Amino acid sequence: VEYYLDNIQRKQHLNAFLEVWADEARQQADAVDAKLAAGTAGKLAGMVIGLKDVLAYKGHTLQSSSHILDGFKSLFTGTAVQRLLDEDAILIGRQNCDEFAMGASNESSYFGPVRNDLDHERVSGGSSGGSAVAVQADMCLASIGSDTGGSVRQPAAFCGIVGLKPTYSRVSRYGLVAYASSFDQIGPLTCSVDDAALLLEVMAGPDEFDATVSHEPVPAYSRQLEPQAHYRVGYIRDTLERPGLAPDIKQAVETTIEQLRGQGHVVDAVDFPYLDYMVPTYYILTTAEASSNLGRFDGVKYGYRADDATDLESLYKKSRSQGFGQEVQRRILLGTFVLSADYYDAYYTKAQRVRRLIKEQTDELLRQYDFLILPTAPTTAFRIGENTKDALSMYLADIFTVQASLAGVPAISVPAGHDQQGLPIGLQIMGGAFREADLLAFAKHLT
Ligand code: GLN
Repeated sequence: VEYYLDNIQRKQHLNAFLEVWADEARQQADAVDAKLAAGTAGKLAGMVIGLKDVLAYKGHTLQSSSHILDGFKSLFTGTAVQRLLDEDAILIGRQNCDEFAMGASNESSYFGPVRNDLDHERVSGGSSGGSAVAVQADMCLASIGSDTGGSVRQPAAFCGIVGLKPTYSRVSRYGLVAYASSFDQIGPLTCSVDDAALLLEVMAGPDEFDATVSHEPVPAYSRQLEPQAHYRVGYIRDTLERPGLAPDIKQAVETTIEQLRGQGHVVDAVDFPYLDYMVPTYYILTTAEASSNLGRFDGVKYGYRADDATDLESLYKKSRSQGFGQEVQRRILLGTFVLSADYYDAYYTKAQRVRRLIKEQTDELLRQYDFLILPTAPTTAFRIGENTKDALSMYLADIFTVQASLAGVPAISVPAGHDQQGLPIGLQIMGGAFREADLLAFAKHLT
């Protein structure tokens, strides 16, 4: 704990942590020491973990990096976080992220961008940017983030670490601030696949507080990491032919393909005609869900309240206008538009149908192949400010991560070397629903 506290102190300029729970972490460490001596310590004894600022932890500030939740403290601890504590993890602090997890660069945070430790002028990725940089810069052993359309995997790729999005419903969402409820999943950001497996094993499983959570048994992922001798792997031909794909990233995926073939695995190029529909479908559905989920922040029940309101309606309007940042407002407007009576069928209903099609075709590919491999992101970490002018280009950069989110299947980003500037490249592996054990074993084989 002292080691990490010291690093957090020395690396404050990265802006990864919004709050550090130094005294509590020390007390937890003492309690774990006593349990270790008594032989009663849990599976995560000694693991020092940070939490993205979207996870409820009783008595602690929870703000989703938004002004609108100023001063809000959580009244309960969410299921995933409680399970970490029950296995004697030590929680060291609350991590910066994009406001309400909306973003891919951590630049929409009310508290400012997180800086990549490899190059301070570059972004961390997002939305779990603080969580990724905290692991990258050795400020904690692991972080817990959330992934709606790539928010664990993409910052993991930008920071050269491992990021896992589990199957939708594998981990309870109780105590996770909702962005788009039919996509959101809690997932770990770690230095190794082993740590990701162990954390998933602890967090996953049935929970009476989340009606959507799966009742599939939870395997002991961390003890099933032996790879098989023969895998069938697919890659979508078009993913490697996208115009915006950086040549070094394409090269890294091709190198992996050659290596796998050399080891005797089957690797086939496959066709998937819906690549161009992924991002529009994702943004129609997630903004719709977000506009509904964020309706609860009205200046009355939580956090920030405008002090210049004259009546109830102006209280709502002013609190929301002043409390939400630009990106969140843009998404509420988009979501409200696609749900409006005149446009509902043209956008929302149609996007739901396209989602179903993408899910069915992705599931079909994942019956034919054990895994699909693809880049995590089209570029490595870009410069702070470089993409903030153009929201659309930022959205389009989610092209590779949203497929697993639309289909609800698990996906992991693992480090796959560096580009010519020395920036980390992420390789993404997608697996069949609830086949995290296979996914993790294969990911470990590749790292
Ligand atoms: N960049 C994507 C978005 O802004 C993903 C965010 C996320 O997974 N929370 O919606």
